[in-house]
Amino acid sequence: MLETLDLELTNRRDLNPDTAHFTFRRRDGKPLHLTAGQFIRLYFPDGDKEAFRSYSVGTILPANEADTKDIEIAVSWVPGGLATGHLQPMQPGDSLKASGPYGRFVLPEPIWHRYLLIATGTGVTPYRAMLNELRKRLQAGAEVYVIMGARDESGLLYEADFEKVQAEFPDFHYIPCLSRVPRGTPKPNDVHGHVQDAIKDLGINPATDIAYLCGNPNMVDETFVQLKEEGLPVAQIRREKYVSPRARSN
Ligand SMILES: Cc1cc2nc3c(=O)[nH]c(=O)nc-3n(C[C@H](O)[C@H](O)[C@H](O)COP(=O)(O)OP(=O)(O)OC[C@H]3O[C@@H](n4cnc5c(N)ncnc54)[C@H](O)[C@@H]3O)c2cc1C
Repeated sequence: MLETLDLELTNRRDLNPDTAHFTFRRRDGKPLHLTAGQFIRLYFPDGDKEAFRSYSVGTILPANEADTKDIEIAVSWVPGGLATGHLQPMQPGDSLKASGPYGRFVLPEPIWHRYLLIATGTGVTPYRAMLNELRKRLQAGAEVYVIMGARDESGLLYEADFEKVQAEFPDFHYIPCLSRVPRGTPKPNDVHGHVQDAIKDLGINPATDIAYLCGNPNMVDETFVQLKEEGLPVAQIRREKYVSPRARSN
C-alpha cells in the first residue's frame, strides 16, 4: 500500500567517496511493508516547488514481501544535483518527507531456473534487498548470477553481502566487472571489462533465463539490446533506469 512517510535519518556511512548508505525510520514507529526490489521517493524543496527523487530500498528483507523498520538506501552523489545537495549534509535526527513503496522491479512467481541480476553502481541495491528471497529460490533449485559493474574495486557496493551468499550456495555466482582498474589481487570471478563482457560468456537460454537490469541508463539500454540479440524475449528482461524526473509542483 502506498503511504506518505515522515522519515528520520538514524544512521549514515560512506560506502566510497561517491556513495553513501543511509538508514531511515518512520517517525510514527510503524514498519514499511514492501516487496524486495521496490523503491521510495524522497521529497526536497526546489525553489518554490517540491521535487522528488527515487531510491531503491536496499534493506536485506527477511522475505520477498516483508515489513521493515529500517529503510536503507544507497545514494550516489551527483555534483550540483538537487537531492545530492540536500542529502549530503543530513545528519542522524534530521527529517525527510517520503512516499512509497513503488515499482514492479521485483521477483515474481513462478521461480525461474536462472536469474541474471545485472547492475552498475547503486543499481545493485535492489538485489541486496532480494538476498533472502534468492536464498529461498536457490534452495528450490534456481541458479543466480549477480553481475556487478564498477570502474574499480571501491565501486563494488555491498560486495561482502553477495560474497556471503556465494559462500553458502554453489549456484550463486557474484561476478564483479571492473572496467578501469583491476584489483591488485584479483578474485576468482573478477572480469576486467563491462557487464556486457561477462554476459557474453553465459550463453543465454530463453527457456530458462530471466534478466534484471538496474542502474546507469546507458548500461541498461546497451545490455537490453545485447540480451535481445542473444535471443532473450523482451518479456524476460526487466529494467530499472536510474534517471531524474523533472521538478514538479505540489
Ligand atoms: C526507480 C529509480 C530508482 C533509483 N534508485 C536510486 C538509488 O537507489 N540510488 C541512487 O543513487 N540513485 C537512484 N536513482 C536516481 C535518483 O533518483 C536521482 O536521479 C539521483 O540521485 C540524482 O539526483 P540529484 O537530485 O542529486 O541530481 P539531479 O538534480 O537530478 O541531476 C543534476 C544533473 O546531473 C544529471 N544526472 C543525474 N543523475 C546522474 C548520474 N547518476 N550521473 C551523472 N549525471 C547525472 C542530471 O541529468 C542533471 O543534469 C533512481 C532513479 C529511479 C527512477
